[in-house]
Amino acid sequence: MSEGRIYNFSAGPAVLPEEVLREAADEMMNYRGCGMSVMEMSHRSKMFEDIINEAEQDLRDLMGIPDNYKVLFLQGGASQQFAAIPMNLMKNGVADYIVTGQWAKKAYQEACKYGKANKIASSEDKTFSYIPDCSDLPISEDADYVYICENNTIYGTKFKELPNTKGKILVSDVSSCFLSEPIDVTKYGIVYGGVQKNIGPAGMVISIIREDLITDDVLPGTPTMLKFKTQADADSLYNTPNCYCIYMCGKVFKWIKKMGGLQAMKEHNEKKAKILYDFLDSSKMFRGTVEKKDRSLMNVPFVIGDDELEKKFIAESKAAGLENLKGHRTVGGMRASIYNAMPIEGVEALVAFMKKFEEENS
Ligand SMILES: *Cc1c(COP(=O)(O)O)cnc(C)c1O
Repeated sequence: MSEGRIYNFSAGPAVLPEEVLREAADEMMNYRGCGMSVMEMSHRSKMFEDIINEAEQDLRDLMGIPDNYKVLFLQGGASQQFAAIPMNLMKNGVADYIVTGQWAKKAYQEACKYGKANKIASSEDKTFSYIPDCSDLPISEDADYVYICENNTIYGTKFKELPNTKGKILVSDVSSCFLSEPIDVTKYGIVYGGVQKNIGPAGMVISIIREDLITDDVLPGTPTMLKFKTQADADSLYNTPNCYCIYMCGKVFKWIKKMGGLQAMKEHNEKKAKILYDFLDSSKMFRGTVEKKDRSLMNVPFVIGDDELEKKFIAESKAAGLENLKGHRTVGGMRASIYNAMPIEGVEALVAFMKKFEEENS
């Protein structure tokens, strides 16, 4: 780790690979001999065209995205998609939502503005600490799609198995598990995520959409910018995109490729998460807050169950160079986000600190 850097457990914007940051720094003043930074160049230039095309190709290689899916680099973050999805997909005006946390709930509430959104399952009864059984849900006959948030950033749960949508299109928000492990893109109609959790800087969402879902048949009043077809026809360059973010994401894709791709990422993430979960399961002071079978590899909430000790833990861990461990304001306690770019040493340092804290305070 470079001098002065800390271990950053933020849920997002989050840690990025140091190597990527260093490379971006090297290219800041003069990108590959063109005499300017990527921030200063035209999004219509050949130089930028190469950046965006290469980023898309690398993402396609990593995820094995089939040719009949478009990859869109869009602004407005993941939250903008909460509206764009119903606007583009609600042909019958009906969609089914599985509500497993705040982000799914927000998406559901937004969809309610545009049609009949049905909450067909929820885990709110136990503060979203588990994933409901989704093997035989009452899927609506005329549902245009079934919606999930695959990894629940705030609560730390993850769908280990996709829901049985009974033939309906599956739409998934993968913001906080994007590129953390291999997925089968063909199982989804749309798979999308904000990039600031596991891929790049804030301000962009990558939406991977099956081509037949990109049509002119959208809800009346859909803004031009929110129509998938506008963005797909213009290859994400309908207006000025988030150029620098696309460039940074491209670098992270190359870094993941170099690390061995998504299977290697999965193994790396499993190893890291195991260190932390094993400790939580053995500790007398700390405990995880979600059902074991549904534990996320990326976001790990845990508690002590004593406000004063938790405050002390957060203050002392920060002083020890372990930052952003405070839990989400709606949950309290602590949360360690251990995305792709969090090195194993970071998780080891956290667990060593927790052990020491437990010894000193019990
Ligand atoms: C962070 C997050 C969002 C919101 O992302 P924005 O880019 O801020 O709109 C949506 N869904 C999930 C799962 C998230 O973790």
